[in-house]
Amino acid sequence: MAQNKLGTFPGGLKLAGHKHRSTQEAIQKAPLSKQLILPLQQHIGAASTPIVAVGDKVLKGQKIARADGHVSVYLHAPSSGTVSAIDDQPIPHPSGLSALCITIDTDGEDRWIERAPISDITTLSEHEIRQLIREAGIVGLGGAGFPSYIKLNPGVHHHVETLILNGVECEPYITCDDMLMRERAQGILDGLEIMQYALRVKNTVIAIEDNKPEAIAAMELALASRANIKNTNVVAVPTRYPAGSEKQLIQVVTGKQVPSKGLPLDLGIVCHNIGTTYAIGRAINNGEPLISRIVTVTGKNVKKPGNFETLLGTPMHELLAFCDTDRKADDPFILGGPMMGYNLSGDHLPVTKTANCILVGVDDGAPASTPMPCIRCGDCAEACPASLLPQQLYWHARAKDLEKTQEYNLFDCIECGCCSYVCPSKIPLVHYFRFAKTETMTQQLETQKSDIARVRHENRLSRHELEKQEKEERQRQRKLALAATKAAKEKEAAQSPESGKED
Ligand code: SF4
Ligand code: SF4
Repeated sequence: MAQNKLGTFPGGLKLAGHKHRSTQEAIQKAPLSKQLILPLQQHIGAASTPIVAVGDKVLKGQKIARADGHVSVYLHAPSSGTVSAIDDQPIPHPSGLSALCITIDTDGEDRWIERAPISDITTLSEHEIRQLIREAGIVGLGGAGFPSYIKLNPGVHHHVETLILNGVECEPYITCDDMLMRERAQGILDGLEIMQYALRVKNTVIAIEDNKPEAIAAMELALASRANIKNTNVVAVPTRYPAGSEKQLIQVVTGKQVPSKGLPLDLGIVCHNIGTTYAIGRAINNGEPLISRIVTVTGKNVKKPGNFETLLGTPMHELLAFCDTDRKADDPFILGGPMMGYNLSGDHLPVTKTANCILVGVDDGAPASTPMPCIRCGDCAEACPASLLPQQLYWHARAKDLEKTQEYNLFDCIECGCCSYVCPSKIPLVHYFRFAKTETMTQQLETQKSDIARVRHENRLSRHELEKQEKEERQRQRKLALAATKAAKEKEAAQSPESGKED
């Protein structure tokens, strides 16, 4: 392992990992569900648009919804069967709302569409590679769900020096990337080669937290067998939450700080998640779109915890039953980890592209306590890895002074939950920040809408004014023409030899 000199980030926490429980068994295949429910919005950006109708027969891997707009990707049938509904269904989302989904009744045959693997990527341009990744429906599988093809396109004004593969997985309980690295390291490197080609990158760092020695060893072993992969190192980073957040990881790996409101690309850096990298390898080398993902199912009340290769759309209760889960009504039931995840509204929700972990019951969950007033201890600021002032942000968010929250860089908050975790008054600070962000975005959207409406109104007024002026001008011209004709006739009549003769 070539260990670069590492940087660090402020704040952060040492948390109990609780990872052992779900890493005792190899990744297993989750059973095929009779019904798969596929939300059209499984990524950041515009939802996909259905290209199938109720009653259509579909094959595994067939496109069922197309990308709609620039920030959007395709969606595919995870198994063969019949489209039985296209309607609103409850989806996994903090709001607990429903959204448009395509439901497929599977036929049990799991029959693939004809696939078109690429045996030599150098026969394709970078643009063609990105297009294939987009058509394969690949988005960031670390939880964010940003379309991956966009992050593989630095544009003409940027040059990528460093690609970081994020294998940090710093949230407690989640182990899907750890197991993927242990078991499918070669597949991850397949994806890495494609990314390196698409980005024309100079150096690559595979960053893994130092509490994952098996994953580090597996990635190093695989890398040693791939002489064609150059300038690539496995780097062990100290275990400290939230080292896996993009900006914090960049600070650790490169010592550079992504500026407020800036992007990693501004520093010549691009980060991709390990699971995403693996999915890209499958898409290009095997012609398989993103139709499944590894999901960690764990928690105090899961009797057979582990990691499961699960078809997208699988109802969570089927996965929980497969893991022999005894879910009680008052158990924490979380999608993601205990720090950045959110409570699920029910267990009939489908597994989506960003569903990395289903957590049922936590080991050290303190009973919910009533928040007390802020005692201005400053612990939240000390724990904040983004160097923010959570206490001030809290006051302004509480007072709904959104302008002030902007002044305190609300949008630099990565919602890691460190501040809430350490707050002795048990104030749910992150909830306030999420609320303030949503309010701000809603207001900005409203302002945009009213600006557009105002401009349209002004345009309409000036168009009417112009039309009125044109009409007046036409009338004036007509009158002038009439007057000229009349005058000409009169003149002609006056000059006529007949004029002046008596009858
Ligand atoms: S949730 Fe936001 S404010 Fe709180 S510690 Fe994390 S980054 Fe800082
Ligand atoms: S940690 Fe809690 S009590 Fe202390 S300053 Fe921050 S918000 Fe106030």
